Amino acid sequence: MLHTLKDLPLSDKDIAPLIISADKVAHVQMNNPLQHALLVLIKSGYTAIPVLDASYRLRGLISKSLILDAMLGDEDFELERLSTLTVNNVMAKDVPCIRPDAPFSKALSLLINHSFLCVVDEEQAFSGILTRRSTLALISKYLHQH
Ligand code: AMP
Repeated sequence: MLHTLKDLPLSDKDIAPLIISADKVAHVQMNNPLQHALLVLIKSGYTAIPVLDASYRLRGLISKSLILDAMLGDEDFELERLSTLTVNNVMAKDVPCIRPDAPFSKALSLLINHSFLCVVDEEQAFSGILTRRSTLALISKYLHQH
C-alpha cells in the first residue's frame, strides 16, 4: 500500500522518457502574425502551444484565449488585429518549465496547475514538452500493475 508520493518508486525517476520531443511539438515564432498562430492552434486542436525564437529557444506561450482577448475591441471583435498584431504582442511570457533531468516528483507538482510543461535547459533551449496526460497515464499504468 502506498502512503505518500515518496513510496512511489517512480518519484525519483527522471522525466526524460515522457518528453514529447521538440520536432513533434506544434509551435509558432514570435514574429508570426496572430492569424498564423490561430490557424496552427485550430488545425492542431491544442489550447496553447510554445513560442520559440529562430534559435529554438523558448520565449512564451500562445493560446486561443489570449488571441480572442487581444481581438476584443470596445464593442466588437476586431478581425484586422489578426494581421496587424504579432505573436510577440500577445503571448504569455511566464511559461511553466522544467529541466530535462528533473525528477518525476517535481513534474507532478507542477502539473497540478498546468496541462503541460515546456522542457528547457539553462539557456532556454527547447527540447520538448511534458503533458499531464502522459504523466497520469504512467502513474495509472504503474498503479494497475502493483
Ligand atoms: P494533452 O494532454 O495531449 O491533451 O495535451 C495538453 C496540452 O499540451 C494541449 O492542449 C497542448 O496545449 C499541449 N500539447 C500536447 N501535445 C502537443 C504537441 N504535439 N504540440 C504542441 N502542444 C501540445
